[in-house]
Amino acid sequence: MENKISIYNTLTKKVEKFIPNEDGKVGMYTCGPTVYHFAHIGNLRSYIMEDVLEKTLRYAGYDVKRVMNITDVGHLSSDADTGEDKMLKGAKREKKTVMEIAKFYTDAFFSDCAKLNIKTPDVVEPATNCIDNFIQMVDTLINKGFAYIAGENVYFDTSKLDDYYVFSSQSEKELLVGVRDDVEEDTNKRNKSDFVLWFTKSKFDNQELKWDSPWGVGYPGWHIECSGISIKHLGEYMDIHCGGVDNIFPHHTNEIAQSEAFLGHKWCNYWLHVHHLNDKSGKMSKSKGEFLTVSLLEEKGYNPLAYRMFCLQSHYRKPLEFSYEVLDNIVTAYDKLLKAVAKLKDEGEVDKEAFESYKTKFEDALNNDLNTSMAITMLYEVLKADINDKTKLELINSFDYVLSLDLTALRNADNGVDEEFEAHIQALIEERTAAKKEKNFARADEIRNQLLEEGIILKDTREGVIWERA
Ligand code: AMP
Ligand code: ZN
Repeated sequence: MENKISIYNTLTKKVEKFIPNEDGKVGMYTCGPTVYHFAHIGNLRSYIMEDVLEKTLRYAGYDVKRVMNITDVGHLSSDADTGEDKMLKGAKREKKTVMEIAKFYTDAFFSDCAKLNIKTPDVVEPATNCIDNFIQMVDTLINKGFAYIAGENVYFDTSKLDDYYVFSSQSEKELLVGVRDDVEEDTNKRNKSDFVLWFTKSKFDNQELKWDSPWGVGYPGWHIECSGISIKHLGEYMDIHCGGVDNIFPHHTNEIAQSEAFLGHKWCNYWLHVHHLNDKSGKMSKSKGEFLTVSLLEEKGYNPLAYRMFCLQSHYRKPLEFSYEVLDNIVTAYDKLLKAVAKLKDEGEVDKEAFESYKTKFEDALNNDLNTSMAITMLYEVLKADINDKTKLELINSFDYVLSLDLTALRNADNGVDEEFEAHIQALIEERTAAKKEKNFARADEIRNQLLEEGIILKDTREGVIWERA
């Protein structure tokens, strides 16, 4: 098939035509969450934009297989192999076991994703499912001379590679080597940039999850997880790998080092990185300032999809600053958009020529390094265009496959309900609002449940209560 998509490849530092290894098929890997806490909306910016990438590929006709790991062991507080395991920290914080924490926050992550219309990848694999794969990889790396045992840990020997810092220019390399000087020194390492493939009990006595290995009872390093899981499900050649920019170094740099040493050839051709969402004070954090989660936005009355639109309005390769003022503006725009779509009449014939012409423009925007704000502009162009409503509706439904903003939510909410039933719903909504005012939450819940039984879901939004068919 024709390859029409261009994306910025962090490996070559250029916008390049995307050409998969196998015609029409794409193997895509996403670094998944470390499930020790809720995802913040910064993390979710990365997952929203990766979702757009996947859907852009599918929209163009590719058969995509997308794999994502769940990090439930081995991610230490510092990405440079120091500090405590994040999962253990989470377990201590909540006085639960690591597996309880992993289950709870994995479910919370997918619930957030569902609210943001992020599709679940085809394969989701927790690291703790694949310990044998990691052990086998580490074993091969030792046998090939790329890894060594020191102080009861297994390390990757970065001096065995011609170019370890694959993503970096010469000046950046010097900077990175400099930065590493500050990292707490691990005297077991032969080279400062070496990293741990397998930890044994010598590192943390209180590590909860440990497995037997040829090198002692222990647990895998974070980086080997993504190499092991992606090779297990996508084979020796992968088309595109993505994550947030903080993953470029050391995580993705280490993934490439160990995967290519293990396989003996080039592994992944395209690397896509989403820039960070920052708050006014700078880096988004789970421990300092306001912990911005999807639930917090909901508590404040925001529809999570307004946050998705917030992300789509800016390019993934630019840092984005979060502010409630901007989000409020987006909410207003989003509501107007839904209302405009709700007014379109589902009558007449689709104008095929106009449909193809606007669809091509929409695709061109996305295919040009995921220009999502231009894609949204195309949506407004369609609404303004001198074409019939039926064609507009077809286009909007088609665009929404990628944008995933539930653009027809309001019109679907009003669809297929006779006037009498509508009046009944409205009366119950009013009664519920009054009950809530009087703090009679039991009655309010009763009304919500009654409507649910009648096939109607209520949604509390900033603009008041809206309802949809269940
Ligand atoms: P973690 O759960 O810490 O492994 O991170 C999950 C994903 O979120 C990774 O792809 C990170 O690169 C990404 N990420 C972390 N912080 C941010 C941020 N502020 N903005 C966007 N993406 C982020
Ligand atoms: Zn990863």
